[in-house]
Amino acid sequence: MKPLPEGQHIAVVGAGLVGLASALYLQRSGYRVTMFDRGGPGEGASYGNGGVVALGSILPVGMPGITAKVPGMLMDPLGPLTIRWGYAAQIAPWLMRMMRHTGREEVTRISGALASINLAALDDYLPLLEEAGASDLLARAGALYVASNAAEWTDMQFGIELRRTHGVPIEVLDRNELRQMVPALAPDMGGAVFVPDAGHSLNPLAMSQALFALFSDRGGQFVGHEVVDFDIGADGPTHVVTDDGRHACDAVVVAAGAYSRPLARRLGANVPLDTERGYHVMLPDPGIDVRIPMLFGGQGFAVTPMAEGLRCGGTVEFAGVHAEPNYARADAILTKAKRLMPGLQDTDAARWMGRRPSMPDSLPVISRSPRHANVCLAFGHGHLGLTQAAVTGRMIADLMAGRQPAVDPTPFRADRF
Ligand SMILES: Cc1cc2nc3c(=O)[nH]c(=O)nc-3n(C[C@H](O)[C@H](O)[C@H](O)COP(=O)(O)OP(=O)(O)OC[C@H]3O[C@@H](n4cnc5c(N)ncnc54)[C@H](O)[C@@H]3O)c2cc1C
Repeated sequence: MKPLPEGQHIAVVGAGLVGLASALYLQRSGYRVTMFDRGGPGEGASYGNGGVVALGSILPVGMPGITAKVPGMLMDPLGPLTIRWGYAAQIAPWLMRMMRHTGREEVTRISGALASINLAALDDYLPLLEEAGASDLLARAGALYVASNAAEWTDMQFGIELRRTHGVPIEVLDRNELRQMVPALAPDMGGAVFVPDAGHSLNPLAMSQALFALFSDRGGQFVGHEVVDFDIGADGPTHVVTDDGRHACDAVVVAAGAYSRPLARRLGANVPLDTERGYHVMLPDPGIDVRIPMLFGGQGFAVTPMAEGLRCGGTVEFAGVHAEPNYARADAILTKAKRLMPGLQDTDAARWMGRRPSMPDSLPVISRSPRHANVCLAFGHGHLGLTQAAVTGRMIADLMAGRQPAVDPTPFRADRF
């Protein structure tokens, strides 16, 4: 790995949590950094996510047996998965690829890779948040993975085995122990896994904004325009081209979330990135007491207590990046949340849609470009970008500086496909 000398100027495309954390770790390594975003920092997927620093989420989306479940999910109007028919042909190759990663051996490998980055998540976040004066935005209440019925509990057993195999500390709770922890839940849950070390953001947007303020305080520059291209010389990109002009740089990091694919392709990496769109409803006055984030995997959404209310978010919609939101998906989350937490109230509920940047093997791309030594790629974190942003940032700075990252980057290489 050829190191980029200290003091060089790096362009980071995308000011979501992944771009922000990358920019901050690059600054720490002695680089000058300019971030580019056509919107405000943290206003993409990083804005409306479930906020869970989900150390225990080491299972890929494509688990064994998913093929048999998909038709049922697609038929269910409240189901966790939907495909817009106009996008079906485009997403088909991505889904076929995903299916190739659903065998037990492959899922064990992927969950090991996810554990390797998730377990480092807090160690890499805490120093950034502390320096940004934003430690109070991260709560440390753990997280509950809840089976809402007996069948889901049976399904969760392989995941429990994988968490044990990969060293994720967990406590297994029966339905009574779960109910003692969260009395607001309906009585007929299947059981739960508690991950005591997990954390959650009390306000993901405020977290991004605090990290951005730290970036600016350290001398970082921001260009609020869309990146449309790069000038590429004999040694890789020399300029970022935006809709308002050309900006010289020595190196580039692509961290543009769900929009990264064409930018990465221009810089020598053809990766099968697509988007799993997700929705949330924010309930400012939920009428129930929930203190621990709960992830209802079988139902496809999570519930997180935040500073401004209870956020119920999740589900997967394949419709590409451009289609208009279908807020009936958010309403479906609310309907299901009310079933699981019977006292839940929805006064002044606000709905949101965001685009997860998703790879078919559920592993992010944290990698040098296969073509240019002065390009790094940091996207594709799917359901776990808030969790993995800081680890990714540290790894990107290590890759740029020619250091061996503490976490093995091999499973996250761009040329793995
Ligand atoms: C409903 C839902 C719930 C979720 N819950 C969780 C959770 O609990 N825990 C967790 O860890 N993760 C969760 N996630 C996933 C997480 O939100 C994402 O993985 C993460 O936000 C991705 O961050 P990012 O920085 O890669 O992308 P983004 O936050 O989308 O940032 C990308 C940025 O790039 C900019 N951009 C794109 N293209 C260009 C361009 N050409 N020029 C200039 N700027 C550009 C965009 O404007 C944007 O600001 C959830 C996601 C959803 C949708």
